[in-house]
Amino acid sequence: MKALQYRTIGSAPEVVEIDTPEPGPGQVLLTVTAAGVCHSDEFIMSLPEEQYVYGLPLTLGHEGAGIVHAVGAGVTEVAVGDAVAVYGPWGCGTCRNCAEGKENYCTRAVELGIQPPGLGSPGSMAEYMIVDSPRHLVPLGDLDPVQNVSLTDAGLTPYHAVKRALPKLGAGSTAVVIGAGGLGHVGIQLIRALSGATVIALDISEEKRALALEVGAHHALHSDADAVARIRELTGGLGADAVFDFVGAQPTVEIAGACAAIEGDVQIIGIAGGALPVGIMTTAWDVSVRAPYWGSRSELMEVLDLARAGLIHVETEVFTLDEGPSAYARLHEGSIRGRAVIVPGA
Ligand code: NAD
Ligand code: ZN
Ligand code: ZN
Repeated sequence: MKALQYRTIGSAPEVVEIDTPEPGPGQVLLTVTAAGVCHSDEFIMSLPEEQYVYGLPLTLGHEGAGIVHAVGAGVTEVAVGDAVAVYGPWGCGTCRNCAEGKENYCTRAVELGIQPPGLGSPGSMAEYMIVDSPRHLVPLGDLDPVQNVSLTDAGLTPYHAVKRALPKLGAGSTAVVIGAGGLGHVGIQLIRALSGATVIALDISEEKRALALEVGAHHALHSDADAVARIRELTGGLGADAVFDFVGAQPTVEIAGACAAIEGDVQIIGIAGGALPVGIMTTAWDVSVRAPYWGSRSELMEVLDLARAGLIHVETEVFTLDEGPSAYARLHEGSIRGRAVIVPGA
């Protein structure tokens, strides 16, 4: 089968021919219908050899959707032909966090060597992919896989963050979204669908600011040194009740901290290495700062339900598997509108 693999540290991913895998006991083999391109892939491919822990060659793709093609011994929960989305943050299934469905916070994954697809295990950017357990599949039903595959990360990750901030986002509140890319443009829609907040989006790109307004932001500001003053101005001096930083670079975490209102929630979701000091007089009183990772299994079901209800959608640009390397080049130059999605069968 064809697969898009990261093969050499520092080089672009390559389309290669590899053996089609067979499902072992308890596993499921999917014919991949869609695979999303995330900025985190770009991040891991930028790591120097001493920090890279995902194995080589690595079949990319941690956002995946497919049709069940074959099941391993003992699998009865799904059947050949089922349309499914892949829950990516695989855990052990039995620790306390996994028991709550929070496999993104599995306490035994490292010890057991469990790695998500595309981030250690073979991912979705191939004609077929192995899913380690039917527990990691959620029925897609009549949702289009190409339009919705990115809900498994670009939807689930902001949903996990927004859901926890909802107590802060009543009527008259303000939410700031920094970075209106793959995650951010869904984050804006989630805040609009679930809360009464006014949404202020920040981006360095004019196109992304236009996209932010199109998907529901009330204001879109340039992400620069004046952004904090503009946010204070728009909120009568109060600041933002919740801030979602989908960039996570030093300048953006500083904006996030400086624009948070008293008792505001700051969540740093982007992995660009920024750090925000927390302490008396560093932020407004009682601001909380968190760095969440992905989301739970039940939250993925909820995100798919929101899409089914027509409340959120993903703006997508479609690529074939052969065009995969150029999808990453476009992501790198910042010109993808919404999410790039690879369709192996196209
Ligand atoms: P993306 O490339 O699609 O979007 C990034 C957006 O940020 C773009 O619109 C870009 O113009 C904008 N941007 C860049 N610099 C900016 C700045 N200084 N101020 C404001 N906007 C700026 O990326 P994505 O796939 O949406 O991922 C966003 C981040 O989230 C990445 O760092 C990714 O690795 C990370 N991520 C984290 C998790 C998690 O669980 N914590 C999950 C998925 C992705
Ligand atoms: Zn991701
Ligand atoms: Zn676990």
